[in-house]
Amino acid sequence: MCVRREVASTEGFQSFSTPVYRASTIVFPDAQSYRDRSLRFPDGYSYGLLGTPTTRALEGQLNRLAGGVRSVLVPSGQAAISVLMLTLLSQGDHVLIPDNVYPPVKQFAEEILRRYGVEFDVYDPVKLQSLGELIRVGRTKLVWLETPGSTTMEVCDIRSIVRVAKECGALTGCDNTWATSLFCKPLSLGVDIVAEALTKYVGGHSDVLLGALSFASMEVYVQVREQLANLGVGVSPDDCSLALRGIETMSVRLTHMQSIALEFAQRLRNRRGVARVIHPALPESPGHQFWRRDFHGSTGVFTIELQTRDTSLIDRALGCLELFAIGASWGGTRSLMAPMTLDGVRTYGTDHPGANYLRISIGLESPTDLWQDIERMLAVLQLESPE
Ligand SMILES: *Cc1c(COP(=O)(O)O)cnc(C)c1O
Repeated sequence: MCVRREVASTEGFQSFSTPVYRASTIVFPDAQSYRDRSLRFPDGYSYGLLGTPTTRALEGQLNRLAGGVRSVLVPSGQAAISVLMLTLLSQGDHVLIPDNVYPPVKQFAEEILRRYGVEFDVYDPVKLQSLGELIRVGRTKLVWLETPGSTTMEVCDIRSIVRVAKECGALTGCDNTWATSLFCKPLSLGVDIVAEALTKYVGGHSDVLLGALSFASMEVYVQVREQLANLGVGVSPDDCSLALRGIETMSVRLTHMQSIALEFAQRLRNRRGVARVIHPALPESPGHQFWRRDFHGSTGVFTIELQTRDTSLIDRALGCLELFAIGASWGGTRSLMAPMTLDGVRTYGTDHPGANYLRISIGLESPTDLWQDIERMLAVLQLESPE
């Protein structure tokens, strides 16, 4: 027996939400158009893995925010970076990575790129002299940027890095997860490709993993789409629908988180137990001048360096938190803290050896309650801290 599907009329129906179009099979009107399906590449629909109207809607929104020619979606922020590098780099090529990069990127370079004969060097994102010295003309195909950097949050001089890379014929790619396209548009500063972990602020609710790449040129876009098809990497339209919902509130979430985070950062500056507050909008933070020049705002994540080196004291202090949860993958509605050390991770002294850091992500809880939580934590940290 053949089950025919009833198709409901959409007449008179209109809603704000983007429908979730799920598909593996894309149905073609006739045999000839099926035979010609490769002509639909790179933007059209030919197989569910390569996109449905839901994924295209999200790509379109992200691209408009980023100011690019196209965007593509991938299953995570890390996948955005790895797919891009696997697309652009071949045996014998060389890539430059900043010292304060999201740590799994260094690991990807060490464990995967090296295996495929791609060499990499780490450059100092603060003293750009090392960048010029490390570039290998003709072989350096990509200079990676992340600004602000992970944990130590140095804001780099995007424009100067782009200039150095362009002079040597290298492309530039920038991880823009912290600022999002609302607060920084690296493509408008000359960067060729922007990566973003939508897992963070776009998703915004700690329940979806997604990443995106946005491009200044059609050429790189087409290469990445081809690579995604070769790798068999696509995203779920259901996840995209969560990201589309997240985008609707991203601006108000970020505006709120920005003001609470900055206020807390300022209050923490003079507190016993806190050695240093690193927040790009504070004048003493590394690269603050570049933040002022290139960014339109700051978001909800900042770092404090603690005075104590006693990790059991830190663990006890974090154990007193009632509202802040302990965990990674910030950017959601719930506030988070994550203790970090950088020993053995950095090459250029962008960290303080032996230092303990706390990455703080401000969520949407009551700011008064959040601050009380921080006071509880500080009270423990101060027990054994010097004056
Ligand atoms: C979280 C994060 C990533 C990775 O995103 P996932 O979706 O978790 O893979 C990459 N870069 C930065 C700066 C991040 O914060």
